[in-house]
Amino acid sequence: MDWDEDDRGPAEEESASEGETAPCPHCSADIYDDAERCPACGMYLSAEDAPRPGWPAWMWIAAALALVVCALMAGVQMLPWLFR
Ligand SMILES: [Zn+2]
Repeated sequence: MDWDEDDRGPAEEESASEGETAPCPHCSADIYDDAERCPACGMYLSAEDAPRPGWPAWMWIAAALALVVCALMAGVQMLPWLFR
């Protein structure tokens, strides 16, 4: 779980200065850059907990389900051909 901490950690420490705020990744509230948790929603703001760019978890689950459904449908269509 540390593949993207290398490019994000040092930059975050450099940009974190007093009074600097950034939108919370969870609730978009203005919070201090160096805050450990969002005071508005209580979520942790560390790089590990921040949502990764790309597909959210439910998208992967949906994709996996679609793959399974496709495989099942292909299998069902193959059945008459297999047993003829
Ligand atoms: Zn928040």
